[in-house]
Amino acid sequence: MEKATRARRRIKRQEIGDEKRRVCSFCSQSAAYEALRPQVFKRGDHLLVVEDVPTMICDNCGETYFTGETIDELERILSNANELAVTRPVRVAQFIARAA
Ligand SMILES: [Zn+2]
Repeated sequence: MEKATRARRRIKRQEIGDEKRRVCSFCSQSAAYEALRPQVFKRGDHLLVVEDVPTMICDNCGETYFTGETIDELERILSNANELAVTRPVRVAQFIARAA
């Protein structure tokens, strides 16, 4: 599993130009880039999906994180989910790990 993850990161490294790289907040290398990713928040049985969240991903240390600005906006969305979110049918599956 770890090998597959590393291979995928290596491909992305080639796709992301140096001009789009930023200094990583964790390892301080200029290896982080922003990508829009969905985030799922769970409260009890309720799921809230926030689409297109700007997510910082570092190819050097593997960390993914949000900027303070993004966290502020996520908190605003979560606090106002009743007004901001629409309800859509979502298929949910349970991951079942196989014994090694
Ligand atoms: Zn890093």
